[in-house]
Amino acid sequence: MRSQHGLTRRRRAPSKRDKGGASRGRRSLALRAGRQRSGTSALKLLTGPDLDEPGRAHGYFRLPISTDASAYGSILIPAVTYRNGDGPRVLVVAGNHGDEYEGQILIRKLIRTLELDDVSGQITLLPAANAPAVQAGRRVSPLDQGNLNRLFPGHPNGTPTQMIAHLLETVLLPGFDFVLDLHSGGRSLEYLPSTVIVRPDDPGQLEAQIELLHVFGLPASFVTDAPTGGGGSLAGACTRAGGIPCLSTELGGGGGVSEQALAMARHGVLRLFRHLGVVRRDLSDQPPAKTSIYYRVPPSQFLYAPEAGIFEAYVKVGDRVEAGQAAGAIHRTDAPWEDATVVKIQHDGILLCRRFPARTECGDCLAVVGRQWPDAMA
Ligand SMILES: [Zn+2]
Repeated sequence: MRSQHGLTRRRRAPSKRDKGGASRGRRSLALRAGRQRSGTSALKLLTGPDLDEPGRAHGYFRLPISTDASAYGSILIPAVTYRNGDGPRVLVVAGNHGDEYEGQILIRKLIRTLELDDVSGQITLLPAANAPAVQAGRRVSPLDQGNLNRLFPGHPNGTPTQMIAHLLETVLLPGFDFVLDLHSGGRSLEYLPSTVIVRPDDPGQLEAQIELLHVFGLPASFVTDAPTGGGGSLAGACTRAGGIPCLSTELGGGGGVSEQALAMARHGVLRLFRHLGVVRRDLSDQPPAKTSIYYRVPPSQFLYAPEAGIFEAYVKVGDRVEAGQAAGAIHRTDAPWEDATVVKIQHDGILLCRRFPARTECGDCLAVVGRQWPDAMA
């Protein structure tokens, strides 16, 4: 598949919807999942909203759990889908991490405002992918400490978070042409509001995805060589599902909501929909900001705390920084008469991300630099 915006899958995975056809559209997703998998390895999806039927539908993907508190309990993952005629199929995800709020709010606003008549193809919205983590306002699930964005492809009979990962990777993703995964820094990190792509090998794909950064139009964007979650991330799942193009964001952090990032990202999503051809008219009246693109250094080059203490940062996200510059100091709490340990920036560039809480343990990430793109590749 090659569309006018140049985004392609490496290969087109067969869609369950392609197999089922419209006449089977009213079968539940649970039935379809069960038919395709057999024996004890099948995902025990109890119910799910029908993604095949034309129109707007909402409901829950319901996965069974059995705990002391609820022997026949279930995890409810809300989803809203709009399907109207021919066009691309776009999945928008938030709540992959439960303590990252801009995307969760953004999708709720979309649910309240998106009109079915404006859709050309399919838009499916998952505002709380790791629903137990969202309910708890935590990065990881309170049920199993599972970090969804590290657990793909999951397991059909695994922990609750492994089951959710398996649901997304095997039941949902194969039907979609594009995935937008909305993240922020969460409680422990503060990010410069940014749009994110993982650098594809193919130069044509890279060019098409760089174009998305301009369309989304946040003032900053960055390219990575790999998602921090590697193959265990949703981006990794997109690769396995046939190379589905995936765009992500980092919209702030610290466990709060950046009103400015939320507003900019909302218009970015609407422009992206138009660019992908999944809506019939311009839904945003705002032009994109000129985006500066950076290359996020790999995790091996993040700045980590060499010891525990109180981190006093000397730099803010968005600051221009230079290699050798002091990023801050760690004040020891166990020996207050000792000098503070100064930690230094390792690259020229911009500060993309900073630890949010002052208290730090040895090994915590304190800062991440984005080098100028594409100079960083030279
Ligand atoms: Zn996240």
